[in-house]
Amino acid sequence: MRALPTKSIRCIVCNRIFFEGQGIKLVLGGRELHFHSKSCALKFFKNMVLYLDQKDLEKAVASTVKEFEQRIKELEEKSKKNIESIR
Ligand SMILES: [Zn+2]
Repeated sequence: MRALPTKSIRCIVCNRIFFEGQGIKLVLGGRELHFHSKSCALKFFKNMVLYLDQKDLEKAVASTVKEFEQRIKELEEKSKKNIESIR
């Protein structure tokens, strides 16, 4: 198999060039977005939320918080069961 040429990608936040397979790729709003690091992705997200409708944002934040709270609860219940099974 022939090695594929490594594609260079530009971080849309800081303009740094990195290679395919590195960095973070996200598909949002029908677009592929590339960030060289988590901190650039976070910077992008922090700016993006300013453009969102505040009511939509409130709903989105509430739903996301709920989702993670649910996940943590499930993890806690799982680890509780594990402790009980060890006993
Ligand atoms: Zn960057």
